[in-house]
Amino acid sequence: MKQLQRPTVPDVANLRSLARNRRVASYPALEPHVREILHSYAAYRRVNGNAIAAGAPTELNINNGLADALRQHYNTPPAVLQPFLKTMREKGSPDVCPMCGSLGTGTLDHVFPKIDFPEFAFFSLNLVPACLCNTKRQDNLTGAGPGQRVLHPYYDAILNQRLARVDIQQTQQNGFRRPTMQLAVLLPNQHPNFAAVRYHIDNVVLKTQVLEHCEATWIKIGRRPKHYFTVPAGQVSAQALTHAVADALNKKDIHYGSLNNWESMLFAGIQANAALIAFLAQRVTDLRNGVVNPEDF
Ligand SMILES: [Zn+2]
Repeated sequence: MKQLQRPTVPDVANLRSLARNRRVASYPALEPHVREILHSYAAYRRVNGNAIAAGAPTELNINNGLADALRQHYNTPPAVLQPFLKTMREKGSPDVCPMCGSLGTGTLDHVFPKIDFPEFAFFSLNLVPACLCNTKRQDNLTGAGPGQRVLHPYYDAILNQRLARVDIQQTQQNGFRRPTMQLAVLLPNQHPNFAAVRYHIDNVVLKTQVLEHCEATWIKIGRRPKHYFTVPAGQVSAQALTHAVADALNKKDIHYGSLNNWESMLFAGIQANAALIAFLAQRVTDLRNGVVNPEDF
């Protein structure tokens, strides 16, 4: 999850140019719909991509043939759309997924799904660089409860706040070796954006392998904590490890330019867990003293 700068693409000119292009599949069906599609573009901007705001764009009455042609313009873009789609896909956010916080992208997510909103199939403000969470999310946009909606990386400034951390629970059988992990929302329930953040985490982030990634990383940390945390020589106190975790978290935040990338979610979870910190401090000391082996973990 990450806020991105809005792209500056001449969407209105692009739509008009397509409507006049006799060589594309949407010709001539698109022409009579240009006005209402431009109204939808304007509504989208007015409500800042918030699908449940008053005045949010509603589904247009576009016949199936034209709807398919518009979606096809995204899949096989005509010359007027090709350059910006390629740039957004490849360079929009190469190191962190703005939708789910994973550590890469490669495709574009339609925030308003193109199955219901074909008029936004190639509308730049509706296209966000994303990873495979794009397909896992399917067509989820809003929930049944108040405030439930997908967050929009071009508009939702709340994405600049730390919104989630991985809560790590010691299991009875294996202790911290195979802990139970959950994603906690770091906003109070009364916060005006709580329902949207919770909905986004449940319907976008948790559809991915975020917890599997964090479990795999946690095992690597348990095996070689010194690789992840810079601690003073000798016996390591919980206090020294607390500082080291804070420092490592800060570096992850800076590296990915987001407080809500998967690694920061995990490191924030470690930081919040005093028992885990104490365990790690002891483990660094034990590894130094040769009492335990990395692979024991
Ligand atoms: Zn993603």
